[in-house]
Parts: sequence; structure tokens; C-alpha cells
Amino acid sequence: MHPVDDPDAAVRAVGQPPNRPVALAPSPPTGDTGGMERGPPRPTKERDGIVIGRQDYGESDRIVRVLTPDEGRVSVLARGARADRSRWAGLDLATRARIRSRPGRTDLETLVEIEVADPRVGIRGSLERLALAAYACELCGALAREGHPEPRLYGLLEMALLVLDAATEDPGDALRAGLEAKALTFVGVAPVLDRCVVCGGAPEAEMAFASGVGGLTHLRCAPSEGSIRYVTREYAAALEAARRAPLRDLLDVRLPPGPADVLHEAVAAHLGRALSSRAVLDALLH
Ligand SMILES: [Zn+2]
Repeated sequence: MHPVDDPDAAVRAVGQPPNRPVALAPSPPTGDTGGMERGPPRPTKERDGIVIGRQDYGESDRIVRVLTPDEGRVSVLARGARADRSRWAGLDLATRARIRSRPGRTDLETLVEIEVADPRVGIRGSLERLALAAYACELCGALAREGHPEPRLYGLLEMALLVLDAATEDPGDALRAGLEAKALTFVGVAPVLDRCVVCGGAPEAEMAFASGVGGLTHLRCAPSEGSIRYVTREYAAALEAARRAPLRDLLDVRLPPGPADVLHEAVAAHLGRALSSRAVLDALLH
């Protein structure tokens, strides 16, 4: 196995979040609870997760999306969250919390209680950090599966948010690139950045990045169809270094000149859609 294909290298590079998630309570039996408001209380479920998105629902409710280590992406219904903003204080984006919910009448579980573990106060002091945190939440959330363990994407997001929360200055662009490259690696589509993905040859001074074929190519090897971006060998090497470095070491690092969106293009190619928070981030940083 070529080292660039070794996802464990990128895992090790992320490091372990200092706050390990606490053990989950045993899952209560699920199934049809009848959907009635009366009768014995339905069993609740507890999870540790990071709020990755919110969406208005009906007149007064909100659907909250959470990334969890053991069940990937989970959505819960916060009843009354729009009507009474104070009722579910703590549901802000990027917050890490212990969330208790109970099965609802539909697939959607109903939020019962939220206990904030880390409100990420530091992130909210800067528009740039908040925008990057929002992008990290959308990126890891979009790549995560629903109902499947996603410990590596969860660990990556938690580390990115810890780094941003503790930052005293706005981060350089290598942190964003490292986040993207690691996330792609964790879902099994690591971009090849240290050789030509077509012929395997060493990089030359001027290269192409083609997300359709999975990374860097010589200009002569570049596919004739699909998106091609021109990158220098130095830029590709900096992206690869960001992929392997611990996120906390990337806070002050700036990439050499190059197209800032090649890794987001690879994400979009994998998902079949672009991430909306990326446009906000680009607007703030340029
Ligand atoms: Zn080649």
C-alpha cells in the first residue's frame, strides 16, 4: 500500500480529541410505540454529538442534525424551538452536547433534553472562525452516513472545532485544506497529491488536478473530459503536507499560490453537490 493511501496515517495525524466521548447508554428497545401521548413514557436514547445543522420545521419546530461517533448523522425534532428560542438554548451550530431523545410518531426522534458539553464560545468571537466552523460541520456531516458509526469524521470535526475555538487569530488556508483532505481520506477517497494518479510518475513543475480521476496528473496525462485545475508541484505538496499534519499544527500555515477550491471540488464530485457554507467562507476570505 502506498503511504498516501493509508487512511491510518491521516487518522494518526488528526490526533485524539482531549475530551473522549462518554460511553453511550444502552439503546432502549425501539419499534412502534403506538404514537399516543398517553400511556407509559417511551424509552429515551442518549447520545453525544456535535450540532451540524438546523432547519425550520412547521410553524414552531426545528429539525436539528447532529454528528455522533456511533451512529453517524442523526436528526432530532426540537419542538417549539422556533416559537421559544430560549427553550432549546444550546442548539447552536458546532456545539458539543449530550442529547436525549425519544422515538417519535415518524422516523424523526423528539428532543427531550440537551446538556451542553462545549458551547465553543471562542469560535463565535470571529466571523472567519465561525464560517470555517460552519464549513467543517457541513463537510463532516455531509460525508457522514446516517445510522452508521463515523468515529473518524466525528474525531476530525471535534478536533477542528477545538482548534478553532482555542485560536487567538484567524487561521491560514492550510487548516481548511487539511480538514478537506483528511475528510476525503476518511471516506475512502483520499486525493492523490504526490504523484501522477494516471501514470504514477513523479510530479513536474506544472501539474493538473482532476477530481474526476482522483487527484494530480501530469499535463500530458490529464483526462480530456471533466474539470481540470492547474496547480504547481509546490501547491500539491503543500496540500499533501496539510493532509498528513495534525490540524493544530496548521493554524498559522499558509498555502503557496494555487486554486483554493480543488479539494472542495473533490468533495463536491464525491457528494454530487457543492457545500453551501463554502461560498460563505470564500466570500469572507477573499
Ligand atoms: Zn502521468
